[in-house]
Amino acid sequence: MWTSHLVKPDHNIRLMDAKADVPKDYQGAKAEISKRLEGLREDLRGYQELLSAQGKHRLLIILQAMDTGGKDGTIRYVFGGVNPQGVSVTRFGVPSQEELAHDYLWRVHQHTPGKGHVMIFNRSHYEDVVTVGVKKLVPDKVLRQRYQQINDFERMLAEEGVTVLKFFLHISKEEQKRRIQERLKDPKKHWKFTLSDMQSHKRWSVYMKYYEEAISRTSTAWAPWCIVPADKNWYRNLVVAESIVDHLKQFKMRYPKLKLNPNKVSF
Ligand code: AMP
Ligand code: MG
Repeated sequence: MWTSHLVKPDHNIRLMDAKADVPKDYQGAKAEISKRLEGLREDLRGYQELLSAQGKHRLLIILQAMDTGGKDGTIRYVFGGVNPQGVSVTRFGVPSQEELAHDYLWRVHQHTPGKGHVMIFNRSHYEDVVTVGVKKLVPDKVLRQRYQQINDFERMLAEEGVTVLKFFLHISKEEQKRRIQERLKDPKKHWKFTLSDMQSHKRWSVYMKYYEEAISRTSTAWAPWCIVPADKNWYRNLVVAESIVDHLKQFKMRYPKLKLNPNKVSF
């Protein structure tokens, strides 16, 4: 199912054409999907334990979205049931002075996952081609160089054994407006609101243009993008969870065998 949302390499996507709403076949299926999600969370818990026990594979999950797009909610829901020792989250905000003094991949590379570990990026080096592009912090020529550098960087990670999964949580402009209004209305959500939410809303079409370009240039065989219809949380969670579980399944992991005869262990 999630494969229908994958972006083929060298394919020019248009986010206006990509649906943010639940696809027709799944509309009205919320109750059924919620049950399926519980099963997927259980699968994920088991696979993550195997990944950790085996200590061989590394998984990097990159989440990008417009403000209010649901990155935090996805992490909370999809990974809510796994052993916290095996999964980490790194958020990437406005770069610090020290980060700005380095190349833009410097702060990212040090957080890529080690063996047996899952790392989730809440924002990523894609801010350095999208937000940085929208705000004209570097010339377009530098942006074009960065697409290639990012592809090379991610290929290196893949060749070194890191599985890289990239999700763009795609919400509609109307849904963002609704979510911003909700943040303003609910005192428990005030802390989430910043003026940058409004700026991104006002510059929606410019952000879409930079996202389209970035996703089209960097969806590769070794690190493909999945554009997740994200107006409804349950469908968004389903796509992300199913994709991750299917990738973990493909690892065909086994618990490592004991290297000695258990009968010969004496107390
Ligand atoms: P939040 O995720 O809501 O805490 O917001 C983090 C903010 O940092 C967002 O407005 C991002 O666009 C911004 N940000 C993240 N990375 C960069 C970057 N490399 N350059 C400029 N702004 C960035
Ligand atoms: Mg924010």
